[in-house]
Amino acid sequence: MGNWEANIRKVVPYVPGEQPKEQDIIKLNTNENPYPPAPEVLNKQVELENLRLYPDPAATKLVDAIAEYHGVDKNQVFVGVGSDDVLAMSFMTFFNSGKPIFFPDITYSFYDVWADMLRIPYETKPLDADFRIKASDYYGENGGVVFPNPNAPTGIAEPVEFVRDIVSHNPDVIVIVDEAYVDFGGQTALPLLKEFDNLLVVRTFSKSRSMAGLRIGYALGNEKLIGYLNDVKYSYNSYTMDLTSIELGTCSIKADDYFKEMVKKVVDTRTWFVKEIEALGFTVLPSSANFVFATHKTIPAKEIFENAREHKIFVRYFDKPRIDNYLRISIGTDKEMQLFVAFLKTLL
Ligand SMILES: *Cc1c(COP(=O)(O)O)cnc(C)c1O
Repeated sequence: MGNWEANIRKVVPYVPGEQPKEQDIIKLNTNENPYPPAPEVLNKQVELENLRLYPDPAATKLVDAIAEYHGVDKNQVFVGVGSDDVLAMSFMTFFNSGKPIFFPDITYSFYDVWADMLRIPYETKPLDADFRIKASDYYGENGGVVFPNPNAPTGIAEPVEFVRDIVSHNPDVIVIVDEAYVDFGGQTALPLLKEFDNLLVVRTFSKSRSMAGLRIGYALGNEKLIGYLNDVKYSYNSYTMDLTSIELGTCSIKADDYFKEMVKKVVDTRTWFVKEIEALGFTVLPSSANFVFATHKTIPAKEIFENAREHKIFVRYFDKPRIDNYLRISIGTDKEMQLFVAFLKTLL
């Protein structure tokens, strides 16, 4: 046998939350939206005959709709196959200095996977005792900065001033703010795009727009940054956005009333749910997302996780230092959360 294995790029892949096959489960483990996409999306007739053609490589329709929605120029918008694709492309495009990039120790667990895969050195910065990101940790010399706001899996949001503080201390690198959950109560960094040419804001249709299955994400930034991102995309795969994503994504952006209504429902359910479980002895971090991060005063998180699973309720448990006694619970429908609360009451 030859030594070909020595030349393989060996990576430790990201592990997504479980997608169980059964129908009758309560699924609160991957932060999906419990409500369907907008009626405009459901009723849209996509011209399937056109599938014989390549899609528009620039996804112009979708890019234009996103630009109009956010009041930015079209060449300030980059789209990709979920924000995971957008973030991976951004790491590839912007983090090439050879210096370590900075991100929090407790955060989206894809960042270190991309950094390892792309051989980007990195340093993680510990969250403080209240699980908050410390801005001053990001002042030092680095090869770039990335963090979610609200952070995951904590759900804690920081104000726009906090982002300004970090960006203004990092004029020589790109700062990426991952706003996957911002619609559920965070403050967006988008107004800062007027002030800073080195800020990239990344968004997704997967959570607040109920379209995780379609895979649409986007980035907003200075047109120069977006130009560089597109150069990398066109050097990798020109047709990342398929016909249905372009059509249905555009519909979703235009269905703004429905979008706002569904976000409000999730936020109201969250408020109710937090009160309920606090009364049962849980401590819940202040959440601005469509999930909560909670720990119980007596029962270990792992035990609740396993017990819930046996009762066909799936939540997320991370067996990692500092957070191994916490559960990340996605906000489902009122009915689902009532059933989960009822389960907790019997367990306790
Ligand atoms: C869910 C999530 C994403 C990825 O979402 P996509 O489905 O790939 O758009 C990115 N960042 C964070 C923090 C997330 O929680």
